[in-house]
Amino acid sequence: TGINFAKYDEILVEVSGANPPTAVLTFDEAGLCDTLSRNVSRSGYVKPTPVQKYGIPIIMSGRDLMACAQTGSGKTAAFLLPILQKMMADGVAASRFSEVQEPEAIIVAPTRELINQIYLEARKFAYGTCVRPVVVYGGISTGYSIREVLKGCNVLCGTPGRLLDIIGRGKVGLSKVRYLVLDEADRMLDMGFEPAMRRLVASPGMPPKEDRQTLMFSATYPDEIQRLAAEFLKTDYLFLVVGQVG
Ligand code: ADP
Ligand code: MG
Repeated sequence: TGINFAKYDEILVEVSGANPPTAVLTFDEAGLCDTLSRNVSRSGYVKPTPVQKYGIPIIMSGRDLMACAQTGSGKTAAFLLPILQKMMADGVAASRFSEVQEPEAIIVAPTRELINQIYLEARKFAYGTCVRPVVVYGGISTGYSIREVLKGCNVLCGTPGRLLDIIGRGKVGLSKVRYLVLDEADRMLDMGFEPAMRRLVASPGMPPKEDRQTLMFSATYPDEIQRLAAEFLKTDYLFLVVGQVG
């Protein structure tokens, strides 16, 4: 893989906010069930990267998180593993066909390439569980996206526009959403998706921030991201910075 662990062992990590949980040193300490642990090993992951060591226990503990770490530092597994673990611990219903789907998790990323990578990781980690991830993005037909969603959807991954489209058509109800991930938040701003993110969090049925866990990831931390974090995250959110952030 592209992870250079020699570089990470001396990287600077900073967590701000009240009472952060202790970082884990290994995947064994992360509290993953056997199926997830096996899928992690099968992915060739031997030890967690810094954003995983700190991010996984923060998310497991239920706290909201704004995490800044450079591209290639392992942010995807940092949020997918604890979300999948918590979904399974809470006894998520096995996915099945229905005309309206009510996913427990929504993951947003700005481009089809980025959201598809997240989806493929989610499929890999959810292998052998009853959790069904689905991905939707522009460029494939809306009809196809909707058919995939209606087959069953616990984790809905999408680009902002296509997500809003499918939600607007009444195919996805948001009242069961417990986890909302805004990945590559800085790029979403650069690409003009701020109004779409606002519409998503304010969509009918979306639980208020007090009733969901919101996780934001970014490679940089400009003022606009701080502003969005203050708006979308609970006031006691934790702020994790790994390495040099622009
Ligand atoms: P980011 O989202 O921070 O840019 P990714 O989550 O896409 O980074 O991870 C970058 C690459 O490193 C991917 O190929 C991923 O599968 C791999 N990777 C992530 N975590 C680990 C790990 N703990 N051990 C080995 N490889 C990993
Ligand atoms: Mg990423």
